[in-house]
Amino acid sequence: MHWCLHSASASLRWGVMEGLLTRCRALPALATSSHQLSGYVPHRFHHRAPGRGKRLVLSRMFQPQNLREDQVLSLEGRSGELTCKSQRLMLQVGLIHPASSGCYHLLPYTVRAMEKLVRVIDQEMQAIGGQKVNMPSLSPAELWRATSRWDSMGKELLKLRDRHGKEYCLGPTHEEAITALIASQQTLSYKQLPLLLYQVTRKFRDEPRPRFGLLRGREFYMKDMYTFDSSPEAAQQTYSLVCDAYSSLFDRLGLQCVKVQADVGSIGGTTSHEFQLLVDVGEDRLAVCPGCGFSANMETLDLSQTNCPACQGPLTKTKGIEVGHTFYLGTKYSSIFSAQFTNVHGKPSLAEMGCYGLGVTRILAAVIEALATEDCIRWPGLLAPYQVCLVSPKKGSKEEAAAELTGHLYDHITEAVPQLRGEVLLDDRTHLTIGNRLKDANKFGYPFVIIAGKRALDDPAQFEVWCQNTGEVVFLTREGVLELLSQVQVV
Ligand code: ATP
Ligand code: MG
Repeated sequence: MHWCLHSASASLRWGVMEGLLTRCRALPALATSSHQLSGYVPHRFHHRAPGRGKRLVLSRMFQPQNLREDQVLSLEGRSGELTCKSQRLMLQVGLIHPASSGCYHLLPYTVRAMEKLVRVIDQEMQAIGGQKVNMPSLSPAELWRATSRWDSMGKELLKLRDRHGKEYCLGPTHEEAITALIASQQTLSYKQLPLLLYQVTRKFRDEPRPRFGLLRGREFYMKDMYTFDSSPEAAQQTYSLVCDAYSSLFDRLGLQCVKVQADVGSIGGTTSHEFQLLVDVGEDRLAVCPGCGFSANMETLDLSQTNCPACQGPLTKTKGIEVGHTFYLGTKYSSIFSAQFTNVHGKPSLAEMGCYGLGVTRILAAVIEALATEDCIRWPGLLAPYQVCLVSPKKGSKEEAAAELTGHLYDHITEAVPQLRGEVLLDDRTHLTIGNRLKDANKFGYPFVIIAGKRALDDPAQFEVWCQNTGEVVFLTREGVLELLSQVQVV
């Protein structure tokens, strides 16, 4: 659990920081901010002295609304039907807004979280040699007719015609497209294999029952990787490599995912695994063996099976959200499209393929399902849309004199902790009480909420720091805050 370990190490340092509470140490020379904007400055930034960066202030941002549950239901065009926790929270705080059945506007915080998730995915995929591509969503019918999936995928395919009557579908997945692309390459040599190509794009599926917000949409983001190898043995190695990269990704996000034996469904092939996040709202039924670690989607087992097929011990039934799926495809697609490479002997040979999906938007909702309380979103540290929210004193309150200190703290953080530039928000809605804004900040799940309250007027000033992912609240001097935040990892 990466972020937990990280937070734990932060809490081990409280001892060090207590020392800082009373010491007033001169700050090291501060690097000049690189955010020297000239010309047009968006109005959500407060203007400041030239060359010192800009503050991101909440009152001027596209502010997601705090909706009541009944408002959420009416937004979704439903009456009284229960939605799951991630859907309710995401709608309530304005992370998403319904556009049509199974389609959502992704609002600024969600886009920031998704961009971070994609950066972590890029790191993991590129660490195993993945190269990023981007294929069109419009996919010609003839490719799908070649594999018979034009008909076999049935109503799930969203089909359309252009002005010339030519038929297309909006890609629900891209095995056909990528295999045709590789088949068009005359000069592919065994020396270039394994080839690992991936993309992060919108996928379209006319789901019979779109529901649970981003968990099951009709238009959603998927990371899909396709691999090409020279032999079944090499393809199995690549398969393990990608599975390990998935495990590493979920570890870094602090998510406990299990890899289960899975059904190959309409994609086909011979071996398949799903990465399942174990939460109650999950639509998949799983069987896990506490004895030997065997785990499978119930779809792959006989429903009456109660004992582990590997060790005969009793199986435990549980539910999961499928966040990733891997398939070893063999030559199922390469043989249809003649996707070949030149082998060691200079002869054409069919590529052995694998395909690997990750539900990018589904993961965003799934982490909320797994980590949030009933009322408060919690993000894996790496995905939090913003890392820090500073709450300045209420206008007209006794602490108002500390308002300027909050602004200065903002500047010190972004100057002394370069990775936090663009990650710190100032909640300047000073007509609201600190308590109200703290409640909001709690709901949004910023990993660090820093309040300039009464003790900000002490000498030296003490800020109240809420570390949301560990549940700790501590008072720290400016130096203490900087030391704590310098350990935050940002992707
Ligand atoms: P499911 O069984 O949940 O319908 P699937 O097996 O049809 O999913 P795959 O074809 O394996 O899905 O797609 C790869 C990944 O894309 C899935 O593991 C999942 O995380 C994500 N995904 C699939 N369908 C959706 C959807 N309708 N909305 C959001 N994400 C999806
Ligand atoms: Mg699947």
